[in-house]
Amino acid sequence: MTATDKPNLAGLSLEKLRTLFVDAGEKPFRAEQVMKWIHQRGVVDIDLMTDISKDLREKLKLSTQISLPEILQDYKSDDGSHKWIVKVASGSNVEMVFIPESGRGTLCISSQAGCSLDCSFCATGKQGFNSNLTVAEIIGQLWWANSKLGCFSGEMERRVSNVVMMGMGEPLLNFDNVMDALNIIMEDCAYGLSKRKVTISTSGVVPAIDRLKDYTDASLAISLHAPNDELRSQIMPINKKYPIAELMRSVKGYMASLSDKRVPVIEYTMIAGVNDHRQHARDLAVLLRELPCKINLIPFNPFSLSDYRRPSDSSISNFRQILQKAGYTVTVRTTRADDIGAACGQLVGDVEDQTRRSSRYKQRATEGKAGGKSFNSTDNLAIAADRV
Ligand code: SF4
Repeated sequence: MTATDKPNLAGLSLEKLRTLFVDAGEKPFRAEQVMKWIHQRGVVDIDLMTDISKDLREKLKLSTQISLPEILQDYKSDDGSHKWIVKVASGSNVEMVFIPESGRGTLCISSQAGCSLDCSFCATGKQGFNSNLTVAEIIGQLWWANSKLGCFSGEMERRVSNVVMMGMGEPLLNFDNVMDALNIIMEDCAYGLSKRKVTISTSGVVPAIDRLKDYTDASLAISLHAPNDELRSQIMPINKKYPIAELMRSVKGYMASLSDKRVPVIEYTMIAGVNDHRQHARDLAVLLRELPCKINLIPFNPFSLSDYRRPSDSSISNFRQILQKAGYTVTVRTTRADDIGAACGQLVGDVEDQTRRSSRYKQRATEGKAGGKSFNSTDNLAIAADRV
């Protein structure tokens, strides 16, 4: 499938599809028909859309396109998870992961090729940044997962019941495209997932969280990873721009705008010797006192270019107990799919880096090894902080 300047029907929200048909002098209900063909039946050949007149199909073929990203590879983990490599128009490859669990199947999708934010515990950040994904490239990941899992053909291996925007990239730095993709994911005549089953995960782009309520009511996860500004700024450079107090204010505002009682998930990647001390847990309990939330602890998943270590089981257990005693609901994320490099924080793809970050990290790693000095991710924080 090639990209052209014609509108891409696969990447249009229902509202935009209706506008397209009305502007062409057609009935707006054609939008629902086309959405069902593409997103519920997996049909991307306009000739096969048989409840649309032949004349209109010819018109659509001349003036529009249906273009999806390409799947380059499908890796299947011993635990049943899949990682798919997706080629996008900018020339980069991004990754998406499907994690089957009892009673649900979660698809973790990417929003950018690379990421500009360079969190020190994240492999994606080390790739530098190439581009925002288009709406069709974001929604195309869900389309392909449904296709590969047999959901369109009825020979269903598993079903995608939940979508998390937790793959490569910071979703709220690709705001407009992510909002349109969320609309399609939650639209009844497309994938029809409920607001509770669709989660945006953000590192804390405060102005974008402030705008969110005007566009969606999806669930929210916050990558917090530290209980105070000093430590958070060290491991997440974005914190220098949007410190914790501003982030908390913004998250509370979004949660208050929702019509039901939902709470955000606070994501906390535990890194041995960095943020896994008992005092960090106590401080976290105090910090979150006024924000009803669930806490998800993620033991760090190692990757090359980082010498961070996973905490011991006893550190994780102690940390969890302190938070539970303080009254929080705490889960510890089970590591899945690390045999295919698809565990949390390990996604790398193949990013045509527009920055010099990836080569700088690789050079530092080589120098560190050559000089017998171990590579320290936090060495790079000063460089990264300048870019946020
Ligand atoms: S954790 Fe998210 S925001 Fe941070 S570098 Fe990785 S992809 Fe970007």
